[in-house]
Amino acid sequence: SHFIAQCLIKDFETRPSVTHLLEHPFIKQAHGKEMALGQQLSTLICEQQDLGCKLKTKERISTPPESNSGEHERINTRKTLIIETSPDDDLVNLEFLDEETIIKHLSKRYDELQIYTYVGDILIALNPFQTLSIYSPQFSKLYHGVKRADNPPHIFATADAAYQGMVTFCKDQCIIISGESGAGKTESAHLIVQHLTFLGKANNRTLREKILQVNPLVEAFGNACTAINDNSSRFGKYLEMKFTPTGAVMGAKISEYLLEKSRVIKQATGEKNFHIFYYVYAGLYHQEKLKKYRLPDKKPPRYIENQHGKVMQDIVSSKLYKEQFDAIQDCFRIIGFTDEVNSVYRILCAILNTGNIEFTAITSQHQTDKSEVPNVEALENGNCTSVLRIDRNIPISWFIYTELTEALTSHCVVTRGETIIRTNTVDKATDVRDAMSKALYGRLFSWIVNRINALLQPDMNICGMNVGILDIFGFENFKKNSFEQLCINIANEQIQFYFNQHIFALEQMEYQSEGVDASLVEYEDNRPILDMFLQKPMGLLSLLDEESRFPQATDQTLVDKFEDNLRYKYFWRPKRVELCFGIQHYAGKVLYNVNGFLEKNRDTLPADIVVYSLMDLLSKMVVGQPHFVRCIKPNDDRQALCFFKERVMVQLRYTGILETVNIRCQGYSHRILFEEFVNRYYYLAFRAHQMPDTSKENAVAILERAKLENWVLGKTKVFLKYYHVEQLNLLLREL
Ligand code: ATP
Ligand code: MG
Repeated sequence: SHFIAQCLIKDFETRPSVTHLLEHPFIKQAHGKEMALGQQLSTLICEQQDLGCKLKTKERISTPPESNSGEHERINTRKTLIIETSPDDDLVNLEFLDEETIIKHLSKRYDELQIYTYVGDILIALNPFQTLSIYSPQFSKLYHGVKRADNPPHIFATADAAYQGMVTFCKDQCIIISGESGAGKTESAHLIVQHLTFLGKANNRTLREKILQVNPLVEAFGNACTAINDNSSRFGKYLEMKFTPTGAVMGAKISEYLLEKSRVIKQATGEKNFHIFYYVYAGLYHQEKLKKYRLPDKKPPRYIENQHGKVMQDIVSSKLYKEQFDAIQDCFRIIGFTDEVNSVYRILCAILNTGNIEFTAITSQHQTDKSEVPNVEALENGNCTSVLRIDRNIPISWFIYTELTEALTSHCVVTRGETIIRTNTVDKATDVRDAMSKALYGRLFSWIVNRINALLQPDMNICGMNVGILDIFGFENFKKNSFEQLCINIANEQIQFYFNQHIFALEQMEYQSEGVDASLVEYEDNRPILDMFLQKPMGLLSLLDEESRFPQATDQTLVDKFEDNLRYKYFWRPKRVELCFGIQHYAGKVLYNVNGFLEKNRDTLPADIVVYSLMDLLSKMVVGQPHFVRCIKPNDDRQALCFFKERVMVQLRYTGILETVNIRCQGYSHRILFEEFVNRYYYLAFRAHQMPDTSKENAVAILERAKLENWVLGKTKVFLKYYHVEQLNLLLREL
C-alpha cells in the first residue's frame, strides 16, 4: 500500500484530480482489499482540498473504525462519497414517480453517502450517523450564490437560498427544520448557522464567533440524553440571524419555547438530566470546588443520580463532561458574559442541593400531616447560602431562612376572606421543593436566553433583515408517554400543518382564485387533529385546563372527561389499559398515560397559552419566505450506512413527500403580483431609467426576455416554478 500511495502521490502531482485518482488502476485493484489505502486516499484528498482544488469531483470518506461492526464495517470501507451532480439530485426530475422509486433512489444515494436530496426547493436530509467531510470552508465557498443545480444537494444550499432570497428581495426568510427525534434537526440548524455566518461575512469577526457559540450554549442548558437521542432538544428554538441591508451579519436573537422543566427533577429510565448539570458537577469536581459550592462529593446529588447508582464515577471520570465544562466556559466568555457566570453556576448548584432537601413526618397529638426538614444543611446550601448568599446566623437572613422553610412545609388557603396556614405532608412538601427547582431552572434558562439576546442585539439604528431558523424537539413515541410528549407532539402537528399550508393549501387556493388551470394534488390535511387539540371550549387542551382548575379533579376524572367529550376518530380509549388514551397523530399512533397531567399542567403555563405562543411564532414566520428541511432517520439504531426501507417509507408517507414531489412537478410555488414582479425584475428587459408600467404586458415582456418557459399568468399574478425564481435572480446578479 505504501508503493501504491507513492505512485498516487506522483500521479496526483501531475494530474491533480480526485476523479482521476479514484479511477486509477491501483485503486481499482486495491478497492476492497486494502483498508489502509482508504485512509491514505482520504488523506490525499484532504490535502487536495487544502490546496483549494475544486471539489466537484469524487471524494472517498473513510469512516471511524469504532462506528460499526461486522457487516457494516465491511461495507463502510468500500464507500465512496460522490461529490458530483446526478439526475436524481432532485426527485422532481424523475420520470416515474411512486413510493418505491423514491425509496430506491434515496437508498442508493444514501449508500453513496449522498445524504441530501431535493424535492424541488425542499431539502430531504438523511441522518448519516457518522462524521462527513462535506462541511469544510471549501464547501462553504462552493455553495455561495451559484445555481443550485450546479452542485449536489446540500444543507448549505438551503442556507444560501435563504440568504440570497433575503438580500435580493429585502425580505425576511425562515428555515423550518422538521423530523422525528434523532433525525438530525439540531445538527442541520448548526450547519445552517455556520454557513450563514460565512455568507454574511461582516468585518466583525468577533460577532461571527459569538453567534457560533449561541447554539452550543443554549443546548447545554436545553438538551439532554434521551432513549432516542444522546443530544435531544428539550425545548423549541427559533434563532433569528440579523443582517444589514447589504447582507452582513449584525446580530442574533433566540426565542425559546416550552422547555421540558420536569426533566430537572426526574428522568425516565435510561435518560439523563440537562447536560449542564453533569458538566458543572464534573467541572467543579476537577477544580476541587465542590465544597465551595456546597455540593456533596461522595454521592452525586439526587437530581443527577441515575438508577444504577454508578453515576458518581461516570460523571467525574468522564473526560467529555469536563471538556464540555471548559467549552461552555469559553462559550460564555466569547458571547460576552461576565462574572454573572458564577451566579449561573451557583444557581445550578443550588438547584442540585434543593433536590437533596429531605422531609420527615411529624406526628403530634393534633397533627398527623406535618413535615419538617431534618437535613438543614441541604436547605441552607440549596438556597440560603448558594443563591441568596445569606447565613441563618445573621438576623435578616434568619428571617428569609425561616420563610423558606415555611414555604416548603406549609401553604396558605384563603376561605371566606380569611387566610389559613395549613401544614404540608411530606409528599406535598416534596412536590413544593421540586416545583421550586423547576421554576428556578426555567427562570435561569430564560435569563440566559435574554442575556444572550442583549449581548447579540444589533445596532438599533440599522433597519435590517432576518433569516430565522426553527429547530424544535422532534415527534416522540416512547413506551410511556406523558404530558411532555403530548406538548411536543402537538407542536410537531403545528409544524406539519404549517408545511401543508405552504406547500399545498395556499398554492392551490391561489390557482382557483386566479383562474389558473393546474391539477390539484391531494394531501393528508392534519387540520382536524389540530382542531381536536385546540378548539375552544371543547378541544383536548381546553378540557385539560378546565379540569386543572377543579381541586377535586383526578387523573381518572380527566381521562373520563376526554372520553366523554372528544368524539374524533383520532382519539380512543384503550379498554384494558388504565388511565390511558390514544391519539392518531399525523406521524403515528401514540398512547399517553395521564398520570400527572393535571399537576404538570398546573405547574406550567396552562397548555392553552403555551400552544398559542407557538402559533405566535408560526405567524411571525409566515411573514418570512419559508424554506423547508425535512430530516429523516434511516434507522433506529443510530448506525451509519444502514437504510431501513420500511422506516424511511413511514416517514416519507407521513410527511407527504410523494405529494410534495407531485406538487413541485406540477405546481407553481411562487406567485408574484404583476406590480411586484415588474418592479423586481424590470432591469432584465428595460433600461434602468425607463420605469415601465407595472402591467401584465410588461411582466410578460420580462419573462420572454429572460427566456423562461412553462410559466403561467393568473388574473393578478405571475405563476412561477421554484426554479424560475432562481434563474431570474441569477440573471439579476449577472447584470
Ligand atoms: P431531537 O428532536 O431529539 O432534538 P434532532 O432531530 O435534533 O433530535 P440531532 O440531535 O440533530 O437530532 O441528531 C442526532 C444525532 O445524529 C447527532 O447527535 C449526530 O450524531 C447525528 N447527526 C445528525 N445529523 C448529522 C450530520 N449531518 N452529520 C453527522 N452526524 C449527524
Ligand atoms: Mg434537536
